[in-house]
Amino acid sequence: MSQFWSPFVKDLVPYVPGEQPKMTRLVKLNTNENPYGPSPQAIAAMQAEVNDDLRLYPDPNGDRLKQAVARYYGVEANQVFVGNGSDEVLAHAFHALFQHGKPLLFPDITYSFYPVYCGLYGIEPKPIPLDENFQINIADYFRANAGENGGIIFPNPNAPTGCLLPLAAVEQLLKQNTDTVVLVDEAYVDFGGESAIALVNQYPNLLVTQTLSKSRSLAGLRVGIAVGHPDLIEALERIKNSFNSYPLDRMAIAGAAAAFDDREYFNDTCARVINSREAVVAGLEQLGFDVLPSAANFVFARHADKDAAQLAQALREQGIIVRHFKTPRIAQFLRITIGTDEQNQILLDALKAL
Ligand SMILES: *Cc1c(COP(=O)(O)O)cnc(C)c1O
Repeated sequence: MSQFWSPFVKDLVPYVPGEQPKMTRLVKLNTNENPYGPSPQAIAAMQAEVNDDLRLYPDPNGDRLKQAVARYYGVEANQVFVGNGSDEVLAHAFHALFQHGKPLLFPDITYSFYPVYCGLYGIEPKPIPLDENFQINIADYFRANAGENGGIIFPNPNAPTGCLLPLAAVEQLLKQNTDTVVLVDEAYVDFGGESAIALVNQYPNLLVTQTLSKSRSLAGLRVGIAVGHPDLIEALERIKNSFNSYPLDRMAIAGAAAAFDDREYFNDTCARVINSREAVVAGLEQLGFDVLPSAANFVFARHADKDAAQLAQALREQGIIVRHFKTPRIAQFLRITIGTDEQNQILLDALKAL
């Protein structure tokens, strides 16, 4: 706190990211990074950008990446927005599409950045409780057309539960909410969901965001995308060009585009994570954990009689880092990222010993 702070900054409640410990030799299963490296083609494309051209600004529109995304999803390049991590894309969406003086609906248990962006952009948050099985009940969101809200946002699969809403349910929600923007945050969709990008041509109020941080193994590069109607994309571009014209550097544009083009490596690494997830779920269940059904690269699990905070601390003492949230309703859960098979075995062995 300082006399130089604006009253606005004094009242902000910032997001707290998962820890990035400086120690080496950790089994790091706390921030849902991919255990496998990025596509070798993505790395080569980034290396090719390290030359004298770095004296020049990058393409402000990131067209090469927009075209790669458009090719991948069979949409037009003007339906694609790209930004510095999907967190930045989400921030612009809050600013451009949700700031209407009406509350924004999202699940009570969800990505904790949403209430933070509500604070930053002066949007009233309206958390809607997940049901007793930690599932989204879409009927609870059927009120947009009554003029009662300023939009809807949820991750699919949800975080930190990992639970998936089938695409048919997303479409039902869209049919009931045509007057406000529905934003589906698909940070984890590649690990077992079906993308709502298939619906963007039918629903002009649908915006889908994705990140290259999880399924494409590029958390360190900071690239996120949004796909939707060109009018929604134009709103995001207006915010972006009023804030930072060059959110993606030359390496990021080239590496991210190559990552989308290398489908084989992507399909292979996603399949490996999904296989490992099934083994981790089975292993945890054998140890007496109740594991929510996951379509993501992490699982959300609670033990019948072991305290989650104590388990997290005991794992930590052995160099195994998982995520524990001290939030009501989920304080007895651990969120465990799927690692390599070797890391997963170290985790299961440590839990067994505990
Ligand atoms: C990881 C994550 C993001 C952020 O992704 P970045 O592209 O790394 O900023 C957004 N939404 C959810 C639900 C996430 O888990």
